[in-house]
Amino acid sequence: MNPPNAPRILTTTVGSYPVPDWLAALPSEQALLDATRVVFNLQRQAGIDLTTDGELYRFDVNHPDINGMIEYFVHKFGGVRREKLVWLGSLHPGSLSQQYNVCGKPGCRCKARPKPRRHGPYYKVSYVFRGRFTSQFVPRQEVAAVCAELANYKRLRKLTEAWVGLALRLAKEKRKLSA
Ligand SMILES: [Zn+2]
Repeated sequence: MNPPNAPRILTTTVGSYPVPDWLAALPSEQALLDATRVVFNLQRQAGIDLTTDGELYRFDVNHPDINGMIEYFVHKFGGVRREKLVWLGSLHPGSLSQQYNVCGKPGCRCKARPKPRRHGPYYKVSYVFRGRFTSQFVPRQEVAAVCAELANYKRLRKLTEAWVGLALRLAKEKRKLSA
């Protein structure tokens, strides 16, 4: 036993308490309150000085599936990411190039020597879709719109890549937890 006036180190807990099965099975605001009380009481019974809610504040009764730390944070960002996809607008894969052509008309400026002035520029968008390479001309007045679509597609690829990266991390963490 400690002498009555000896300095004491107070005890507390950190981290999350496992979500009770009955809360996960029938989630409601009341069940969440009850579960929080249970967590506090368990700590009091164990003699913990500074009790915590065992991070039950993160439990979302509307999304009982989301109670892990990672799910919690990913869940918060989910809406943002979905919105970005919606706002990307029209998309086009590939890249834009321009070219100058020579025609078949005899004596045309495009065959002048020494300074030929070929026709153009003509714009072309080239892309691979489902393994097939396609290349098509783009009317000059549509070049700006196609450029915007190409940029949107690049953003989509970046977002998808970031998303897959998060999914990989999430899968890895989940496996660690269940190991
Ligand atoms: Zn010509």
